[in-house]
Amino acid sequence: KTARKPLIAGNWKLHNNHFEAIALVQKLAFALNDGDFDAVEVVVLPPFTSLRSVQTLVDGDKLKIGYGAQDVSQHEKGAYTGEISGAMLAKLGCSYVLAGHSERRQYHNEDDAVVNAKVRAAFARDITPILCLGEGLEVRKAGEQVAHTLAQLDGALKDVTEEQARRLVVAYEPVWAIGTGEVATPADAQEVCAALRARLGELYSPETAQETRILYGGSVKSDNIAGIMAQGDVDGALVGGASLKAEEFVKLVRFGE
Ligand code: PEP
Repeated sequence: KTARKPLIAGNWKLHNNHFEAIALVQKLAFALNDGDFDAVEVVVLPPFTSLRSVQTLVDGDKLKIGYGAQDVSQHEKGAYTGEISGAMLAKLGCSYVLAGHSERRQYHNEDDAVVNAKVRAAFARDITPILCLGEGLEVRKAGEQVAHTLAQLDGALKDVTEEQARRLVVAYEPVWAIGTGEVATPADAQEVCAALRARLGELYSPETAQETRILYGGSVKSDNIAGIMAQGDVDGALVGGASLKAEEFVKLVRFGE
């Protein structure tokens, strides 16, 4: 685990216009810029319309904050009204993009084949996909969370090469814990994250599995992050609600201290 740098990514969802985005990133940078936040990679995922503003800030002031988008088109170009391509995100300097967030799966009917196409579209432009996986409440109640989440992993990684998989970030996000205040226990998170790592070892190699960062997401806050980070196979967090307030997010990035 020590070789994997912790990653905390803030998924802003449908919040913050470009003006508000600038204010939030400035606050984050100010609070984090006292030298010791090198231990954790901090990433923000604003709406598309705020990316240019975030890029300008991060580049202009050489901020140690990474950024990316919340979605990418599976298509490269063409008659796809409303879509944003991987090339467009790369041009804006995005390092990361979410793929398969449960809200995209639920409200935009993204299935494993679409998620796979998006993962490959990101890799094609050297953008690291943060591949989101996780079970709903019914599956959890049936005790099928591991099988369900591994099947999603298999589907999303079809035709993804080992070289690409080494750069992949996986986010285990049980749907019942997203935005509900219902956080999985650290042991719940560890169970599925360990199973995901073992499967990466089978799909690719144990070395690759050891390099891949696996995050937990679902109602992570500054007061529960420490227990989650203490788990051997959890390398960080994907954070929604708690990433919208600078003070709370900074506390979270410092693992609650
Ligand atoms: C998310 O959007 O990925 C998420 C985990 O949201 P929240 O932290 O609000 O549960």
